[in-house]
Amino acid sequence: MVHATSIVERVKENLEKVRERIALAAERVGRDPSEIVLVGATKSVDVERISAAIEAGLEHIGENYAQEAWAKYQQIGDAVTWHFIGHLQTNKAKLVVRFCRFVQSLDRLALAEELNKRAEQIGRIVDCLVEVNIGGEETKSGVPPSEVENLIRQVSQFPNIRVVGLMAMPPFLPNPEQVRPYFKQMRELFERLKNIDLPRVEMRYLSMGMSHDFEVAIEEGANMVRIGTAIFGPRPIKGGEGR
Ligand SMILES: *Cc1c(COP(=O)(O)O)cnc(C)c1O
Repeated sequence: MVHATSIVERVKENLEKVRERIALAAERVGRDPSEIVLVGATKSVDVERISAAIEAGLEHIGENYAQEAWAKYQQIGDAVTWHFIGHLQTNKAKLVVRFCRFVQSLDRLALAEELNKRAEQIGRIVDCLVEVNIGGEETKSGVPPSEVENLIRQVSQFPNIRVVGLMAMPPFLPNPEQVRPYFKQMRELFERLKNIDLPRVEMRYLSMGMSHDFEVAIEEGANMVRIGTAIFGPRPIKGGEGR
């Protein structure tokens, strides 16, 4: 018998499965699954599927493109917490601070300056994660590990930005075990920076792990994971995939 599962049902099932896998990974290393924030990565995902996931309890979503995100925000509104996770052009900072509580892709001082200015104009504070280019890949944005502390020190002068953690997108390697060393390095960097004593710097989130490697990321200390395809299904093959 063919049982037709609606798109909405499938998203809900996938979300359940991802939650279970997060919990198992956390338990394997003696961590409390409830401390892990699940961010649904929703680039190219339509509002119907995003809404299904929100209905099933998803509380955070991350978008890569400012205009696409803004269009979805018009329909979804504040039913969910918005994160910006893609490369952010300086001229899009003004739009993004209007609806994204988190910017996970802070990778340069000029962007921090603009985010601070735009956030100040509307009287809010933006929670930022510094994006680290942990694999030293030329094609990826992010700050080299050796420059992260320096950037954080400079950003801490901005009253409308709070630095709340680190984000990384390690090299894509077919076997997630191969990614483990990068996650470990991120964890070490995160632990080291936790002791930094600067205004509005509070290293709470280590955002790493995507559909194919989030379990390894959690085992290595991630407390925020960004998951797209495992929840929403494969994306249409196009350019601009952000990896
Ligand atoms: C697309 C994307 C993800 C999620 O990728 P999946 O492999 O679909 O889980 C996570 N983080 C960033 C920055 C992304 O662009």
